[in-house]
Amino acid sequence: MSNLIYLSVLFLFFIGTFFGSFFNVVADRLKSGEAIVKGRSHCEFCKKNLEWEDLVPLLSFLILRGKCRYCHKRINYYYPLSEIITGILFSAVFIFIFYPGIQTSFLNPPYLKIISLLYYLFITGSFIIVFLEDLKYGIISDKIVLPAILISFIYLAINPQFFILNLISAAGSFLFFFILFLFTGGKGMGFGDVKLAFLLGLVLGFPKIIISLYLAFLTGAFIGLILILWRKKASIKDTIPFGPFLVTGSIISLFLGDLIVTRIMVFLGLL
Ligand SMILES: [Zn+2]
Repeated sequence: MSNLIYLSVLFLFFIGTFFGSFFNVVADRLKSGEAIVKGRSHCEFCKKNLEWEDLVPLLSFLILRGKCRYCHKRINYYYPLSEIITGILFSAVFIFIFYPGIQTSFLNPPYLKIISLLYYLFITGSFIIVFLEDLKYGIISDKIVLPAILISFIYLAINPQFFILNLISAAGSFLFFFILFLFTGGKGMGFGDVKLAFLLGLVLGFPKIIISLYLAFLTGAFIGLILILWRKKASIKDTIPFGPFLVTGSIISLFLGDLIVTRIMVFLGLL
């Protein structure tokens, strides 16, 4: 039995590296307006079509020593990094669903675990695309966020014990960001962040959405400060995309949120 679990974790890591590679392409193509599934991948510098041996996640990058086979320009580190991170997160989703106890909002009957697995792989994938797209281009595309909201509603309909609470969390998180959006005049935060906030509330529910937003604002402020001190020319007007922080906070909260909440309650003497 445990061998089967090891194999599954390894398998999801392997699948994850391929998806990580694909998510990068999706983020780029959403920006450029190219069809997402049509057309071959090409080098962003010399535009030469890439062969399958250039596209094996991680291995191609290592074998080619991080350079394009044809024009020898450096391949962006986004590629190997998102491949590794997607691999790790995909195996983490599996581990957290099949070793319950830390996470309560996964579906519990064993035959429904597979639906949980598919849903959280889909959500993790959407988060990674949002992360990459916002980091690279400062955009959070509706084409990712709106389908993820729809799928989350379907998942909550199958798992109705969390429906009301997660819907209220989504509305609260949406409202909070909408007010921020109004007060900053859309400069500090785009409306994409507001829609993303709704999705995050829907996925995480209460109180995990609070943990997620707290981590996002904390790390956002910290990294923002470092960037401002580092390159001194940077002023307050230079916007740092907030989506990557929201996504990172949410992924941490998704996996560890219940554990963090329990620890806080024990610390406060409430448990
Ligand atoms: Zn090239």
